[in-house]
Amino acid sequence: MAALDRVEFDGRDEETVVEELVRTRGVFDSRDAPAHSGLVAWSVEAFRNYRAAWRTHQVAVTARCTRPVRSAWKVVHHRDVPDHRGVVRYEQTCWGRRYESDDGSVREMWLLGFTTPKERPSVVYAAAANVAAFGGSVSPDQVRQPDRVRVVVFGAMSPIAHQLPEWTAEQIRRRARDEVAPRLVAVVDGTERRAGRDCAQCPQTPGCAALPTVDLLPNLPAAHGRRQMLSVTDLRLYQSCPARYHLLRQLRIRDVEAIESQAIAVGRAVDTALRNRHVNGCRTHRCESGQPLDEAVNALPEESRRSAARMLDHHSTLCPFPDVEAHDSEQRNIVSVYDDRLDVVFIAAPDLLYPRSGGWVWRETKTSKRRLRRDRPLMRQVPQLALAVLLLASGSLGRDVARSRVEFEQLRSDGCVLEELDPGRPTVVTEAREVIGEMVGPLLVDTAFAPTPGRDCASCEVRRWCGPGSQHVAKQAGVPLHDR
Ligand code: SF4
Ligand SMILES: [Zn+2]
Repeated sequence: MAALDRVEFDGRDEETVVEELVRTRGVFDSRDAPAHSGLVAWSVEAFRNYRAAWRTHQVAVTARCTRPVRSAWKVVHHRDVPDHRGVVRYEQTCWGRRYESDDGSVREMWLLGFTTPKERPSVVYAAAANVAAFGGSVSPDQVRQPDRVRVVVFGAMSPIAHQLPEWTAEQIRRRARDEVAPRLVAVVDGTERRAGRDCAQCPQTPGCAALPTVDLLPNLPAAHGRRQMLSVTDLRLYQSCPARYHLLRQLRIRDVEAIESQAIAVGRAVDTALRNRHVNGCRTHRCESGQPLDEAVNALPEESRRSAARMLDHHSTLCPFPDVEAHDSEQRNIVSVYDDRLDVVFIAAPDLLYPRSGGWVWRETKTSKRRLRRDRPLMRQVPQLALAVLLLASGSLGRDVARSRVEFEQLRSDGCVLEELDPGRPTVVTEAREVIGEMVGPLLVDTAFAPTPGRDCASCEVRRWCGPGSQHVAKQAGVPLHDR
């Protein structure tokens, strides 16, 4: 945004701005910390794509909106006396970039995303158009309220933006009344707590009634940094390469053109199929061998489809239904707790978690090409099990720990296995603490997130913006980088 401001408001040329972005590592004249080299490379690409998309868009439309608007448009509702919520002023605004035509009769609101132009719920477009149509601006460059509004959707990895149909002010007014207003009322009235992925950013995390506070890793020294949310996927990515973790999970950038391996695609399809069977299907039946293949599996290429079908067949011998207790209204998809000493929200998504005989059964199901290694502890091979043990052992889920168990179901195309761990046994908990502690400790004190090129670079989702990783892959393939 800072780079685009320099071009649009200060009249700087694009290459000078790119040079400044790279030289200052994204700081420009702010007090922000310098960005990671991967983020700098990503930002240059996003900036160039935006400028290309904006130019192409201007050629395609008849009434051009070439005047950038610096100040946010705001729809303000002011009341003299506080309403039943104790509020006197509401503001609706919209994050994005704003433009208007020279005569002010047309406005454009650009919504920005990190990947490709992504479809959003229609209420989002209606809310954005409402702000553009009726929002005031404190800027002196505002000309008038517009007659027509366009919403344009941009994704940072695409040089082509997507424009929605143009709306008149009257059409927007109707949509705002029928679609946006009820949603805004629900938002300002909503007080329900749903612990999950957003807890780390929430100011109410310490002491929140929906987020149990625990001391999951008492052997690790207390940490004082930015509050983090960590899952085992985060920890594994960090082990693979700190830069990969930082870019992918903390900054949420990803190369959508990176090709997913077939092993991952099979795992994802089997996972989706089982979730649909267990959650949406009839819970009173065990999954059966030879059951019609699910949509996600049918979408795979032939060979992968065959191996996914064999894995699902094997699952039928290990399926926990119909033994899952009938009154399983407590079934959960996400488990999250807050470790206040480490300032970390730990989060896990069990494949199945259900109450049984006064305790919990936590099942992790993984697809694999290889058998489990007998020379390596199970929790080191599958750290999800170690975190499951710690979460159950902490007692934060309620119910009796001594009657709980963690199950590991491994599905291969040539067989399957079911292993069990007891979170009530101190030796199991000690081992789980070691496994997770060794993964969490280095991450909490890292501030550089340096790339560590190696075997994982070949399938890395952020290699496109990683110089050392690209060089490593080129070297492995025997290709000098400048020839690629
Ligand atoms: S390409 Fe390799 S070094 Fe670069 S972020 Fe990915 S895994 Fe790390
Ligand atoms: Zn099943």
